[in-house]
Amino acid sequence: MRIPLSAPDIRETDIEAVTGVLRSPHLSLGPKLEEFENAIAKYAGTPNAIAVSSGTSGLHLCVRALGIGEGDEVIVPSFTFIAVANAVRHANATPVFVDIEPQALNLDPSKVEAAITSKTRAILAVHTFGCPADMSSIIEIARARGLHTIEDACEAIGAEYDGRKVGTMGDAGVFAFYPNKQITTGEGGAIVTRNSELAVTMRALRNQGRNSSGDWFDCSELGYNYRLSELSCALGVEQLKRIDEVLDRREAIAREYEKRLSGNDSLQLPVLSLPRQRISWFVYVVRLNSRFERSHRDRIWEEMRSRGIGCGRYFAPIHLQPIYRNSGTVNLPHTEATADRVLALPFFNRITDAQIDEVCGTLVEIIGNV
Ligand SMILES: *Cc1c(COP(=O)(O)O)cnc(C)c1O
Repeated sequence: MRIPLSAPDIRETDIEAVTGVLRSPHLSLGPKLEEFENAIAKYAGTPNAIAVSSGTSGLHLCVRALGIGEGDEVIVPSFTFIAVANAVRHANATPVFVDIEPQALNLDPSKVEAAITSKTRAILAVHTFGCPADMSSIIEIARARGLHTIEDACEAIGAEYDGRKVGTMGDAGVFAFYPNKQITTGEGGAIVTRNSELAVTMRALRNQGRNSSGDWFDCSELGYNYRLSELSCALGVEQLKRIDEVLDRREAIAREYEKRLSGNDSLQLPVLSLPRQRISWFVYVVRLNSRFERSHRDRIWEEMRSRGIGCGRYFAPIHLQPIYRNSGTVNLPHTEATADRVLALPFFNRITDAQIDEVCGTLVEIIGNV
């Protein structure tokens, strides 16, 4: 793609940091892991951060460390990345899909209650596209019903809700660092939690279930290899140093899109700000209005791509994917209606105003022709 959907922002200082690790004797479980975890914990304001191999493995560890397994249910949105439901299934538990609210496209708290059964153990809320979910309502429901809350903040590092950083309000929260995220470690993720006991369990599960005693043969849990290499941690340390600058830049890009596209009656644009919240811009997702169908959206997506402009169809509902189709009857009207009309536009730190002009000009022209 001439103008990609996303692009990592790698600088000379990042390259030097990674090269420095290669010149050292520690390629895994070394000083960069500790430095990265301390930096994440400090940024989030939690006593614990656990770096892991991906956002998905982070979610899986949250579910496992909370003791959720066979016979248990976890409430999740369907309008999200499939990793969310997969993490629940990998723990032998069942994801129960709940609809989204039509503005920020996050889990609708008013629909959660009806999905709770005697088997429900947790609510897994996702801060979709960097926009905070309504955590005060979700936590209130969870408290009243004795459930855990897990925050998928994989698209939302740095976002704030009522002055609190996302990821820090539930029992545990997860960030992800795949190259399309706000900051990257190549592959990687991190869990943050205020619960230090939970953190001990997560650290053990990350490393084959080995206990913190340091004895490699002292395993009490069936663990995984979810470690993050020193190379990735070194990159993460450098990237995190620039997070404020990155989030400001991304908000400015969203404003540039808004300036060019507002007033177009074929499009519904994402809200630029919400009261008492800070959005951490992950992608800029526009919605076609209701006179368009999925086939129109797909034609627009194809045509943009054929002109060298990367676009995304985020998200395809999880409950409609073949591997989840047998999850019982689900009625998720907002999820399905939204998923048919979304289009993610190119969004990366170094996108230029001229590129944004081209994306918007081309989009408006193509919409006029479908
Ligand atoms: C990126 C992302 C993840 C984690 O993805 P990984 O590729 O495993 O790091 C999880 N949930 C959501 C909503 C995401 O966008």
